[in-house]
Amino acid sequence: MAATLTGSGIALGFSCSAKFSKRASSSSNRRCIKMSVSVEEKTKKFTLQKSEEAFNAAKNLMPGGVNSPVRAFKSVGGQPVVMDSAKGSRIRDIDGNEYIDYVGSWGPAIIGHADDEVLAALAETMKKGTSFGAPCLLENVLAEMVISAVPSIEMVRFVNSGTEACMGVLRLARAFTGKQKFIKFEGCYHGHANSFLVKAGSGVATLGLPDSPGVPKAATSDTLTAPYNDIAAVEKLFEANKGEIAAIILEPVVGNSGFITPKPEFIEGIRRITKDNGALLIFDEVMTGFRLAYGGAQEYFGITPDLTTLGKIIGGGLPVGAYGGRRDIMEMVAPAGPMYQAGTLSGNPLAMTAGIHTLKRLSQPGTYEYLDKITKELTNGILEAGKKTGHAMCGGYISGMFGFFFTEGPVYDFSDAKKSDTEKFGKFFRGMLEEGVYLAPSQFEAGFTSLTHTSEDIQFTIAAAEKVLSRL
Ligand code: PMP
Repeated sequence: MAATLTGSGIALGFSCSAKFSKRASSSSNRRCIKMSVSVEEKTKKFTLQKSEEAFNAAKNLMPGGVNSPVRAFKSVGGQPVVMDSAKGSRIRDIDGNEYIDYVGSWGPAIIGHADDEVLAALAETMKKGTSFGAPCLLENVLAEMVISAVPSIEMVRFVNSGTEACMGVLRLARAFTGKQKFIKFEGCYHGHANSFLVKAGSGVATLGLPDSPGVPKAATSDTLTAPYNDIAAVEKLFEANKGEIAAIILEPVVGNSGFITPKPEFIEGIRRITKDNGALLIFDEVMTGFRLAYGGAQEYFGITPDLTTLGKIIGGGLPVGAYGGRRDIMEMVAPAGPMYQAGTLSGNPLAMTAGIHTLKRLSQPGTYEYLDKITKELTNGILEAGKKTGHAMCGGYISGMFGFFFTEGPVYDFSDAKKSDTEKFGKFFRGMLEEGVYLAPSQFEAGFTSLTHTSEDIQFTIAAAEKVLSRL
């Protein structure tokens, strides 16, 4: 194992009684930081009037006014924010409010929004055309980068989203093993394909939808579920379904029920059980890939799955997903093999370019140490603010990914996560928004930092958190 729950970078289960440095939230320090941060200098009153008008118009045009459910702010209440532009660690709405952004487009913006080098490279690529629907050299470049970075990946197939990647990888696991059933964990989200919409996290959890109408029973009849971090439950499923389980798929660190880390015995256990039972282990690293470490969670934990899905960061903010893994398995994918999967825009030159330049930056020395440093400062600072203001909170982080819950903790699975006071989270979220901090609009989502978040950003955020928490 590269790390354990108590190792550097993981603070899961910290409760209010944990000890943190007081330096970050001393009031004199906070005052001087406030003055140096532009969002705090805004003189006009916080208003979302233009956002409100735009969102009201959108509701007539698109279901719920959005193109992805969590964006509608349903679980936190209030007015969704309509964005206009983003640069570095900042995002700005159409009313002119600027926020320190901890959503980062839900993960891709790890080197900061609208990075100058990425934009320049995109402009060059664009001059040569935006899509060929034919092989291009840029696909080779990104494929080589992904293969050399991610321990389990010997061959890769690019697609257009994380959903597509998970859909493809499941079909592949079934094709390769000749088995139908698979195990997923409660609160893990693997996109919106039919088979995965059982006890899913992310927007499904946020909206309290147990399943979705329109998913045929047959599509989920081979989906087995277990609580996250519960190795005994996994063993039971293998006993009850002997010789029938194709794969286990999981988020190696959960981001879609809030932030939850795996117990070492859990992540080691599922590797052993899948090997012993002729099943494949799939890490869904759409969120954790290139975020926890350059080689993803599998590098971080030192556990190599058979197959991996990627998305978000490898597209540098453009639509991309990928699945990859052992060569003998990947050679089943068409046209090398019989498992069909295709895509008109897959491997398109713009997405490949943004991915290449994002990974280039991430591969430079010190990247993950920096992410770890600022995210530690942020997480511990928020938890300390909770402690000072008398709120039961727990939380944790690894590299550029973090989360916290309004419950004493520890949180090991989705049922623990649901003990969080989501009403309080909603109030906290809206308070932070007014202070100029944009968090994910749901308790059941992780937060993300980037290389462009500065220590001043973090200190500003901690001061804002303390201010908001003290009035809750
Ligand atoms: N898997 C995981 C772990 C995810 O976090 C997500 C999206 N948040 C997906 C799959 C689906 O990706 P997409 O939204 O790009 O379809």
